[in-house]
Parts: sequence; C-alpha cells; structure tokens
Amino acid sequence: MSGPANFFDQVTQYFNEAARFTGYPPGLLEQIRLCNSVYRFDFPLRRAGDKIEVIRAWRVQHSHHKLPVKGGIRFSPDVNEEEVMALAALMTYKCAIVDVPFGGAKGGIKIEPKDYTPEELERITRRYAHELAKKNFIGPGIDVPAPDYGTGPREMAWIADTYAALNPGQLNALGCVTGKPVTQGGVRGRKEATGRGLYFAVREACNEPGEMKRLGLSKGLDGKRIIVQGLGNVGYHAAKFCREGGGIVIAIAEREGAISNPKGLNEEAVFQHRNATGSILNFPGAANIADTGAALEMECDILLPAALEGVFTADNAPRIKAKIILEGANGPTTPEADPIFRQKGMMVIPDIYCNAGGVTVSYFEWLKNLSHVRFGRLEKRHEMANELAMLKVIERSTGKTFTDAERAELAQGPDEQDLVNSGLEETMITAFHELLKTQKDHQGIPDLRIAAFVNAIHKVARSYTELGIFP
Ligand code: NAD
Repeated sequence: MSGPANFFDQVTQYFNEAARFTGYPPGLLEQIRLCNSVYRFDFPLRRAGDKIEVIRAWRVQHSHHKLPVKGGIRFSPDVNEEEVMALAALMTYKCAIVDVPFGGAKGGIKIEPKDYTPEELERITRRYAHELAKKNFIGPGIDVPAPDYGTGPREMAWIADTYAALNPGQLNALGCVTGKPVTQGGVRGRKEATGRGLYFAVREACNEPGEMKRLGLSKGLDGKRIIVQGLGNVGYHAAKFCREGGGIVIAIAEREGAISNPKGLNEEAVFQHRNATGSILNFPGAANIADTGAALEMECDILLPAALEGVFTADNAPRIKAKIILEGANGPTTPEADPIFRQKGMMVIPDIYCNAGGVTVSYFEWLKNLSHVRFGRLEKRHEMANELAMLKVIERSTGKTFTDAERAELAQGPDEQDLVNSGLEETMITAFHELLKTQKDHQGIPDLRIAAFVNAIHKVARSYTELGIFP
C-alpha cells in the first residue's frame, strides 16, 4: 500500500467542499489552503564499504498563521513531496480543531528504516536536524517536529541533542522537538497520546444516542467489535485503550497478513508474538487471514486504520462493512471512498479530529519545556492535603471512618500523567461536540469531516481577519 501521488489534491478537495460553507473571499481561502514553505534537500550518507548513498528529505511548513509550526517526521520509502505537503496541511487543520496554538508542518525522509543500522539512522536523523537548523527550519518558536510513521522517542532525542549542541546555552532548546523520552525533557503520556485520544473520540461518538440509533448500534463502547490495521504506536495504543474501555478487538492487520478471533485479541500479547516470531500470523487461538486487505472487509462495528494513507478507495469502499471508521492514520479515506461511506450511512470520525491526541500532548510537552517544571510538581501535595481535609470533614459529619486504602485512593493529588490525560480528555470531548454542533447548525454539511474542515477554516481565517489583512 503506497500513498497516492496526489494526496495534497485530496486534502484540497475536502478543503474546497468545506470552504463552500464558510463564505470567505477566494484570496483568503487560498492563503489558508496553500503551503507557505516547502524545503527539499539531499545529503550524503557514508555506508559500509565506503559506499555513498544520497538521502532525500523534506520539511514543509503549511501555515505560518501561528508560530511555531508543528508536525511529525516520517521515515518511509514512500514519502514524496505531495504527501509531506498534505500531511502538513492536515496538521494546520488538526491544530485549529483542537485549539492547539500552532501552524501545521510535516517532515519526511525517504528511507526504509529497517534497511539501516541504528548508527546509520542516528547519523541520518542528526544530519536532518542539522540541515533544518542551517535554514532556520527548527526551533522552539519556529518549527517543532514530533514523531510520525517510522520514528519515535529515540529519533526525537537525537534531534533535541543536535539542536542543543548547535545552540549552546539556549534555555528553551528542549522545546525544539516533542515526543522525546521523559528523561530527555519528554512528558508522561505522550507516547500513548494519539491512541488514547482515539479512544476518547470513539467513546464520545458511541455515547451519542441519536448517532448510535441511526447506525443501528447500542449506546456505549462496551462490546463493540473493532478491527485494527497497523499495530504500531497509534494502532497498539488505540487497541489497548479501546479494549480496556470495553471494546473487543476481533482482528488485527499488519503488513504480513492479518489475524482474527471473535472472542477478542490482546494487543500486547500479539505485539510480543510478532516480536518473537517476526509476524503476527499463527498467533495462538486466532485464525490467519493471508490477504491483509481482506481483514478490513470483515463484519465489525468499528474499523480503525492506523497505518498509512489511501487505504479506502472506490474499489474496496463498497465492501467495507463497519459502521464507524475511526481514522487513526492520516488520510486513510480517499475522496472517492468518502461518498460511498456517506451513502452507506456510516460514521467517519475524521483524522483531523480523532488522531489529534498526539499533537495535543506534544503541546503540553512544549509548555513543560518552556516552563521548566514538571506538571503537578507545585500542586500535587497541596491538593492531596485539601482532599485529606475534606475526607476528615466527611468523617466528622457522617461518623464513617475511611480505611487507609480508601484514603490513599481518594486523596492522591494529580501527578503529571493525570494532568496530561485530563487535558487530553477535555480537548477531545470539547472538539467532538464542536464538530457535532457545526454539522447540526449548517444545513447541508454531509459529515463530520466536512464539519471539522469548516471549524478549522473559521479558526485559521480569524487569525488573518483579526489582523486586518483580509476583510
Ligand atoms: P508506526 O510506524 O509506529 O506504525 C505503523 C504500523 O503500520 C507498523 O507496525 C507497520 O508495520 C504497519 N503497516 C504498514 N503498512 C501496513 C499495511 N499495508 N497493512 C497493515 N499494517 C501496515 O506509525 P504510527 O506513528 O503508529 O503512525 C501510523 C499512522 O498514524 C500514520 O498515518 C501517522 O501519520 C498517523 N499518526 C501518528 C501520530 C503519532 O503520534 N505517532 C499522530 C497522528 C497520526
């Protein structure tokens, strides 16, 4: 599965459809839609046997309406300029939808990470950061990368270290990148944030009685059958939180094939099995599905693509049986598949809203880096003391005595992880209801994706109109 060459055009199609509901002049819409800066560069890598390989890379800053701009870095052999542009544009809209005060950006390096040693990957990543720094394309107030497909905390730590070395003594240097390991200035809860955000999004959707009735589903996530494509960072964590929240993961699809078990799969056990054997196939108690694409067409309530874009096309969309598509990946539904899903009455929870948990918690990490203090450090003990005082009042007025275990459970005071999760939950719930309201308030908005684009366009447009640049 490789991303379609015109991914940016696809995002533009959605944008244009939504723009009709906003009434802004064409010039303003064009300013919002286009990519402000596209930086493509090549650099050499010396490999074993003194072989020189030229590595191609990009950083795209889609919108400077707010700074810094922000977006992940993807390592994949399929990366191309339109893809990075499309992903940067999606970041702008995503940040606007969840009220994260950044413009959108994205980076890509055209490599298959599996083909390189960790030492080579470190040299590639550090050189990439160096190239960005040379052109002023990275910095806590300029452009703040994060992990995406094929990258994780390790790569982010290399970037932070490179940037800090190039900017000695810069107090906020750690805020130049997010998704770092906690020991390197990361925030607790970032790694799992996109998956946790997806869980909050689908839980909120399943708690909407009107929508569930329309789909012929019961209210709540409990017992809903879920199929996950891609057991990477996003897919693994979304599967974990959805399972813990009552959902049943009945199938998992990976590159090498898919497995299913109607009684449910445990993502951690499957992950360990894949690590040990190199494949998810032959997982104890599960049936193998050799054609990984066929797994997406099985009966289920929720289908969660969490691999790459361009998964649902005019070809396979008619065969998709899910009632809800939860877009963990960016751009899994092509504009050709979208009307088919609409016609079938399915609910598509769009990427630009539901996978925004990562950037939301990245925002918290950036705030932590700028404030130089761990969340909860100042208030935890104070709140714990208040809660204990409250328990004492309850004991006095009711005559009940709490056990030590009850006291420990009820009077904890929030730590960093609690505060991050709470901020993420609040963000995802608020944004979901904004989307529903926009859809209800505007006659003719066909689905949540177009509602999400409408909200994003309004929020970005306001940055320009309130500056007096556009009427
Ligand atoms: P990842 O590299 O951790 O995982 C991706 C997984 O997809 C891998 O396990 C890979 O083997 C699998 N995969 C690749 N091709 C496949 C195929 N044809 N069928 C099934 N599985 C396949 O990447 P990730 O960070 O989890 O990102 C996944 C998607 O989520 C991407 O579209 C990314 O842009 C999006 N996303 C990621 C984040 C984040 O915080 N990491 C945030 C928002 C959106």
